[in-house]
Amino acid sequence: MHTIDMDLVEMTLDVMKYTIDRISNVTPEMGAPKKEDDLLKIVGQTITPEGIGGENAFKLFRDVLVKATVPIDHPRHLAFVPAAPTRAAIMFDLVTSASSIHGAYWMEGAGGIFCENQAMRWLVSLTGLPDGAFGVFTSGGTAANLSAMVAAREEWRARNSANVGVKALLLTSHGAHSSIQAMAKVIDADVVMIDCEEEYLTGRELQNAMDELEEKDRKRLFAVVATGGTTNAGIIDELHSIAEVCEKENIWFHVDCAYGGGALAATSVRHLFKGIERADSITIDPHKWLFSPYDCGAVIYKNLELAKNAHAQEGSYLEIFRDEGAQGFNPADYQIQLTRRVRGMPLWFSLAMHGTNKYRQAIERGIELAQIAARKIEERGNLELVRPPSLSVVLFRRKGWAAEHYREWTYKNHRGGFALVTPTKWKKETVSRFCFINPDTTEEDIDLILDTME
Ligand SMILES: *Cc1c(COP(=O)(O)O)cnc(C)c1O
Repeated sequence: MHTIDMDLVEMTLDVMKYTIDRISNVTPEMGAPKKEDDLLKIVGQTITPEGIGGENAFKLFRDVLVKATVPIDHPRHLAFVPAAPTRAAIMFDLVTSASSIHGAYWMEGAGGIFCENQAMRWLVSLTGLPDGAFGVFTSGGTAANLSAMVAAREEWRARNSANVGVKALLLTSHGAHSSIQAMAKVIDADVVMIDCEEEYLTGRELQNAMDELEEKDRKRLFAVVATGGTTNAGIIDELHSIAEVCEKENIWFHVDCAYGGGALAATSVRHLFKGIERADSITIDPHKWLFSPYDCGAVIYKNLELAKNAHAQEGSYLEIFRDEGAQGFNPADYQIQLTRRVRGMPLWFSLAMHGTNKYRQAIERGIELAQIAARKIEERGNLELVRPPSLSVVLFRRKGWAAEHYREWTYKNHRGGFALVTPTKWKKETVSRFCFINPDTTEEDIDLILDTME
C-alpha cells in the first residue's frame, strides 16, 4: 500500500487542495442530510474487490457526500453546540494522523503525550485545582463523564468493602446533560434528579435531597454531578455551595463543563465557576469551546491516583520496557480507552502557535456575541428574551409562534443553505436558541437571521 503510484500522487494532491480550500473558506456551503438510499443511487457501491481509485472515491466525497453533511463551523450555525476549530488545529490533526503515534503509553507516545500534557497543564490551571491535579484527553464529554464516574464509583468501593456489589447511586439536577444518565446505565448506577427552585442547583437543595434519601439509598450515594454551563441554556450550578456539601458528606464531586469549560478562560465570567477548584473531577470538551477538531474531550482529576486505581489495565503483553525514557505519563491509566489517538495534539499546536491570550479573546467574543444578540432581540418588537443570556447561549421567543412555526423556520433557513438555528424547550415551551462558539460570526449574521423571523 505504500508504493508510490500515480493514483496515490493524484489523491494526495486532491486531498491537500481540498483541505486547504476548506479551511480557507469561512462560509462553507451548508449541506443537508439525504436518505441513505438516495446517496447510494448517486455514488453507487464504493467498496469493490478492485477498488474504485483514490481520485474517483475522493471526487464522490467532495462532490456528493460532504454536501450531505452540515459544516458545524459555519458562522451561521448556531444550533446545538457548534464548533470552530482553528486552522492550526485542523492542520495539526493531519500531522497527528501522519505521525502514527500510539497514545496509550509513554513508552511509544512520549513526544506526542508531552504535547498533550502541555495543553492539559493549561486546562488544569484554568480550573484552579490544587497541585497534583491532572487529566487526560478523551474522545469527548461522554467518555470523560464515564471515566470520572468509574473513578468515583471505584473509590467509593475501595473505601468501604460493604459497597462492593452494591448498586451505586448519583445525584444530579435536571439541567444535567443526557450523557450523565446514559453513562450511569453503562456503570449500572441509579440517578436521582434534583428539582431546582431556581434555574441552577444549590448546595442547600443538594443537602435537602441527600437528607430526603432513605437510609439505604444514602448509603448507595457515591457521587454528585453538577453542571458548569448547561448545554441548553448555559446555566452554571452553584458550585461552591455544592462543593461544601460534598466535602462535608464525603461524596465525590464531579463538574461537567463539557460545553462551558472554555469559559473558565474568560475573565468576564470566571467568577461564576467559583467552587470548581474543589471538584474531584471535571469534564471539559476542547472540541466545543476550545477550537479543537473532533474529537477531543478531557477529564481532569484532583487525585490522579484514584483514576489510576480505577482505570489502569493489566496484561502480560502490556508490560512496559525498563528503559528510563519509557517511564512517564500513561494516558491509558486514566480513562476508559487503551489504544488512543493523541487527540490533544491539535489543541497543543494551536495553543502553542496562537498563545492563550488569543484563546481568551476568542471565547470572550462568543460571550459578547450572546450579549449583542440579546440586545438586538430586545430591540425588535416581534421578539423577546426568554431569560438573560448565559455564557454564549441565548434563549428567545418569536411572539405568537408555536412549536411548528419554529420547526418550519429552522427547515426553511437550513434548506436555503443560509443558517442552522434549532429550537429547544424551556419550561415546556418551544423557543429559539443561539449558541455562539465561532468568533467569526458577525453582528450582520445575527441581524440576517433575526430578519428571517419577521
Ligand atoms: C456536549 C456535552 C456532553 C457530551 O459531550 P460529547 O463530547 O458530545 O460526548 C456532556 N455534557 C455536557 C454539559 C455537554 O454540553
